[in-house]
Amino acid sequence: MHYPEAIEHLITNLTRLPGIGRKTATRLAFFLLNANRDYVFELSKSLMDIKDKIRLCSTCFNITEKDPCVICTDERRGKEILCVVEEPSHMMVIESSYPNRYKFHILHGVINPLEGIGPDEIRIAELKERIEREPIKEVIIATNPNIEGNTTAHYISEILKGRNVRITRIAFGIPVGGDIIYTDPQTIKSSLENRKEL
Ligand SMILES: [Zn+2]
Repeated sequence: MHYPEAIEHLITNLTRLPGIGRKTATRLAFFLLNANRDYVFELSKSLMDIKDKIRLCSTCFNITEKDPCVICTDERRGKEILCVVEEPSHMMVIESSYPNRYKFHILHGVINPLEGIGPDEIRIAELKERIEREPIKEVIIATNPNIEGNTTAHYISEILKGRNVRITRIAFGIPVGGDIIYTDPQTIKSSLENRKEL
């Protein structure tokens, strides 16, 4: 027993979304079937809009509707500190902690030899060009504290060596509100290595 073809087709397409199984897809399909026509039209239009209007900024590789993006054209930001992140979502998190402070460079991934991702597959060459072209004095490498993030940070620091730019790495340690007793030895070690003067 199958639902009418149009519904089956929608269910099949919805199951291609991450985390959506057939049960959820069926529930969503029936929700849409019963929804107001204007809402369904708006939804389909916003799906097309992300394909038609969103592209990458040619400077920082942020996702944007306008090139260069609003961050690259924001005059309030200092021009000397560049924060390097893995993904646009990571940039958004840093931006919400320190609004309008840094310039960014989005790598769109990390070096991961096991998955065949080398330096040429992410935006490292473009980062190097920016360092040559822009008045950047410090590069903060804010990749994740895992093997791939650390490998990428190390690679970037190597290729920027000898240039007149300070390379820093974000600190890793016990989270705010955390407790030493529940902290793993690797994090304790990193907290001790990243200690600072009071
Ligand atoms: Zn940009």
